Amino acid sequence: AAKRTSRGVLAYLPVMEASSPRRLRLVTELRRAVEAGDLRVHYQPQVRLAGSELSGLEALVRWQHPEHGIVPPDEFIPVAEHTGVIGPLTQFVLQTALADLRDWGRRGHHFGMSVNISVRSLLDPGFVEEVGHALAASGVPAERLTLEITESSVMSDPERAVPVLERLRDMGVRLSVDDFGIGHSSLTYLRRLPVTEVKIDRSFVSTMVHSPEDLAIVRAVIDLSEPLGLTVVAEGVESEETRLELTRLGCGVIQGYLLSRPLAKVDLDRWLERRTVA
Ligand code: C2E
Ligand code: CA
Ligand code: CA
Ligand code: CA
Repeated sequence: AAKRTSRGVLAYLPVMEASSPRRLRLVTELRRAVEAGDLRVHYQPQVRLAGSELSGLEALVRWQHPEHGIVPPDEFIPVAEHTGVIGPLTQFVLQTALADLRDWGRRGHHFGMSVNISVRSLLDPGFVEEVGHALAASGVPAERLTLEITESSVMSDPERAVPVLERLRDMGVRLSVDDFGIGHSSLTYLRRLPVTEVKIDRSFVSTMVHSPEDLAIVRAVIDLSEPLGLTVVAEGVESEETRLELTRLGCGVIQGYLLSRPLAKVDLDRWLERRTVA
């Protein structure tokens, strides 16, 4: 994806004024993509370090653009968030991920599913009900769904975000603080949030075996999360060396290219088969 030329969707992004023609075109194309079914959901495995059990998958959206090919989410999620497109996009990802999870469940796989939620969706008045409907329609138990919300988005408006998180928790949905460590909020604040999981940001994990400072941050998150009963997920694990260090530190779950890149459902099925055989 990084090799895409300046003709790609990237070319639209430098001009971010609300009314710029390029941006409007991107928004129109994105809206059409949601309606036309040009969005895809890929899945990346999360594995428990103790026992190597697959604990869950993270759903990551992709845009299959008719001209530009696969467009990564970093290029269109920010635009979707600043327009109304994020609402239908979030619903699409949630429904697709839960339908696929039901299908895996029928075939005897009982892992969980994590879905990324923008703060704009979280604070949407109908959001909690929509999650309830999506769960009911799929028949997936609420405890199998984890919603990932970035640390910075919860912190941007805790007065509004926390009550919504509490309603979701009361439904049985699990909640994860994503990109943890870059928002500079104190770990003790986590105690006041109704969350079950913390994801240490990739920027610390990918460098921890070479940077004593990053290693110290990873260690602090792991050590302080345990007494709070929080599962720690380290994202962006790319090397065996990092996996070993995380095992030594007592990290709960890892995710990253070392295990697998995010995969389309059919490819994830093959990944699952290879694991069973191995
Ligand atoms: P994120 O939630 O922090 O997701 C993790 C990102 O790191 C993913 O990028 C994943 O492919 C990538 N990644 C995983 N393991 C590794 C690794 O070992 N090395 C490296 N270098 N990267 C790794 P992706 O799929 O491009 O998504 C980027 C961001 O877009 C996500 O960051 C998330 O913030 C957002 N996003 C993706 N899907 C959705 C969605 O359905 N809804 C919302 N609201 N945001 C989404
Ligand atoms: Ca995430
Ligand atoms: Ca993350
Ligand atoms: Ca991130």
